[in-house]
Amino acid sequence: WSTDTIAVVTGGNRGIGFEIVRQLAAHGLTTILTSRDEAVGQEAAKVLREGGLNVVYHQLDVTDNTSIGSFTDWLRQNYEGADVLINNAGVNFNIGSENSVESARTVVETNYYGTKNLTKAMIPLMRPSAAGARIVNVSSRLGRLNGRRNRIEDLSLRQKLGDLDTLTEEFIDHTIDRFLEQVDEGTWSSGGWPKMFTDYSVSKLAVNAYTRLTARIMSSRPEGERISVNCYCPGWVKTAMTGWAGNVSVEEGADTGVWLALLPGQAVNGKLFAERREINF
Ligand code: NDP
Repeated sequence: WSTDTIAVVTGGNRGIGFEIVRQLAAHGLTTILTSRDEAVGQEAAKVLREGGLNVVYHQLDVTDNTSIGSFTDWLRQNYEGADVLINNAGVNFNIGSENSVESARTVVETNYYGTKNLTKAMIPLMRPSAAGARIVNVSSRLGRLNGRRNRIEDLSLRQKLGDLDTLTEEFIDHTIDRFLEQVDEGTWSSGGWPKMFTDYSVSKLAVNAYTRLTARIMSSRPEGERISVNCYCPGWVKTAMTGWAGNVSVEEGADTGVWLALLPGQAVNGKLFAERREINF
C-alpha cells in the first residue's frame, strides 16, 4: 500500500477508531482521522504523526449534515475522494441489557442514520480503481437477525429484513422509526422485539441490513467503479463504550476491520464478519 491510497475513519479520536487509523496508516495508507470534537481529534492525529505515521485530521460529526458537507467538500478539493471508508463512529448508553429509552433516538441517529448519511455523501467520492474502493461498517453481533439469542419473534419482519431481493432502504427506515415510536409510547418491550433487544441492537440491526442493501446496489456497477461494502463485529472490546470491561484489546477489535479494508479484490461483498470469519446476519 502507498500513501496514494486514501482512507477515512469516523470517530477516530479514541477506542477502536483510533486503532483502525493507526493500523491503516502503519500499512502505508494516507489515513484521515476524523472526530466530532476538533481539539481531541487534532491531538489524536498529532500523537500518531509523532509516531511517524501519515495521518491527516478533519472534523466530522456524522449526525450533522453541515459537517458532512464541509468534510466531503474538503476531501474532494484535497484528495479528489477516498479509497477506503470506515464507518466506526457510534454511541451506546445501555447499562447492561437495559434499553436506554431517553437516548434511543441519539443512538439510532448516530449509529444508523449517521452511517447511512455519510455513506451516501461518500459514495460519489469513492475513487474507481483496479483494487476497488471499500466501505467497512463497524457493527455488532447484537444486531444479528438470526442470532441464536435475541431472535426477532415477528417472523414476517425477520423475513422482510432478511430477504435481500426485496429489501429497501425505506423498509429499514420504517422498521427503525417504528421501534422509536414504540420507545416513545413505552410499548417497545411488547412490540415484537426480543426482550434483550435494545436501541443499540436495533441500530446495529439497521447497519447490517443497510450494509447488505448497499453492497447489492454497488455490485451492479460496472467493473472498476464497484465499491465493496461489508460490516463486522469487533468483539467485546476494552474501550470507553464497555467501561473497559471487554475481553478483547483494541488491537484485536480493529483487526478484522483493517483486514476487510485491505483485502485484495472485491469478491467479498455484503457480508458480516467477526475475527476475520464470515458469520450469519
Ligand atoms: P468509544 O466510545 O471508545 O468510541 C466511539 C467513537 O465514536 C468516539 O470517537 C466518539 O467520539 C465517536 N462518535 C460518537 N458520536 C459521534 C458522532 N456523532 N460523530 C462522529 N463521531 C462520533 O467506542 P468503541 O471504540 O468501543 O466503538 C467504536 C465502534 O465499535 C462503535 O460503532 C461501536 O458501536 C462498535 N462496537 C464496539 C464494541 C465494543 O465492545 N467496544 C462491540 C461492538 C461494536 P467522542 O469522543 O466525541 O465521543
